[in-house]
Amino acid sequence: MDEKRSLKPQTRVVEAGFSPGSAMNSVKPPIYMTSTFVFNTAEDGEEFFQAVKEGGARAAKAGMIYSRINNPNLEIFESRLAVFDKAEKAAAFASGMAAIATTIMAMSIPESYMIYAAPLYGGSEVLFESYFPKLGIRCLRIHTGDNVNRDIEEIVEHEGRNPFMLFIETPANPSIEMTDIKSITDLASKLGKKGERPLVAIDNTFLGPIFQQPIEQGVDLVIYSCTKFIGGHSDMVGGATLGKAEDIGRIKSFRSAFGTTMSPFSAWLGTRSLETLDVRMRACAESARKLAEFLADHPAVLKVYYPEHFPRKSHQWKIYQKQCSGPGSLISFDLASKQQCFRFLNNLKVFNLAVSLGSNESLAEHPAAMTHSGVPKEVREKIGVGEGMARLSVGLEHVDDLIEDVKQALEKSQG
Ligand SMILES: *Cc1c(COP(=O)(O)O)cnc(C)c1O
Repeated sequence: MDEKRSLKPQTRVVEAGFSPGSAMNSVKPPIYMTSTFVFNTAEDGEEFFQAVKEGGARAAKAGMIYSRINNPNLEIFESRLAVFDKAEKAAAFASGMAAIATTIMAMSIPESYMIYAAPLYGGSEVLFESYFPKLGIRCLRIHTGDNVNRDIEEIVEHEGRNPFMLFIETPANPSIEMTDIKSITDLASKLGKKGERPLVAIDNTFLGPIFQQPIEQGVDLVIYSCTKFIGGHSDMVGGATLGKAEDIGRIKSFRSAFGTTMSPFSAWLGTRSLETLDVRMRACAESARKLAEFLADHPAVLKVYYPEHFPRKSHQWKIYQKQCSGPGSLISFDLASKQQCFRFLNNLKVFNLAVSLGSNESLAEHPAAMTHSGVPKEVREKIGVGEGMARLSVGLEHVDDLIEDVKQALEKSQG
């Protein structure tokens, strides 16, 4: 497939990893709903097992064994997902949390530790604070923002050794605060001169892979919840990790051992969704941009959190300009009180009142009472999640209807 490397991602994503000739000339891949695969000979079976054990190029050429280990739908989805990020390889998982947990467990080093910049997706914070410590994986927390590098260096100095991983999520949820990806990977390289270089892992769910491609900035492992934009229709749960072939090989061997593999049907849904990912994300962002402008001009709205509304000379604006090619479609904004915010949410007619994001239908929620209710109130205040904050995920409905819906709900919110 190397001769096709010059094709653009939007083209490669409809053809990579599948040839119609392998499936009765179907233009689309069928769903391989099978748990196990027939070996032509005992020798083949022996070779496939050896190859998977060895990993690397030999594993990539091996035939199918069993759907917890590999499956055609999984491999098609993985080769297509890798296209946008220009990753060597991808591994698909049963959920975003399965991707995060399996990746970190696979790359962790006994007696070592990792550093993460909060706030993260709530599920990741719970995993790092409450579950990983029980398994001996020590997770040290710093706060995202302009002092991330200084805070990391202080911890490394205090610990007297490098962490095995630096884990970030940018932009942060729901404050849309950004972390400078390149400065983190530069720091990892600097630390690498004095010891084992820490891996840099990023949860790229919010802007990737269309508006943010962190591998180009030196990130080792890019992680997604495919439940969000990649799936894009609120009809599947899935996750993925992308990176160098060697790291992904190791992660896949842990995936087989833990059984956190994506199902063939989810991989098929994800494959279908990848073909429209680029147009969906761009169309959602275009509507979000208009809606954010409307909100910023509305007298009831105290503050809008959206990349295009970062103050022009701020550090946040510089980071946004440097590492993102679009603003995405998540908007948070502050109303005066929780009561007012609830009235707003209860009066929406086009937006669905639901958590999750990145789908073709628009969703609205109250972070303090819903997605971030597990975060202690003092921490919520520190990360800018107030009682009057609403978060919108802008979908593909007509933008005029979305703006009209927000407008009438804001009017009623003033009660
Ligand atoms: C949803 C989400 C996750 C978790 O993904 P699941 O598919 O729900 O397991 C992780 N990170 C971010 C940023 C998310 O939005």
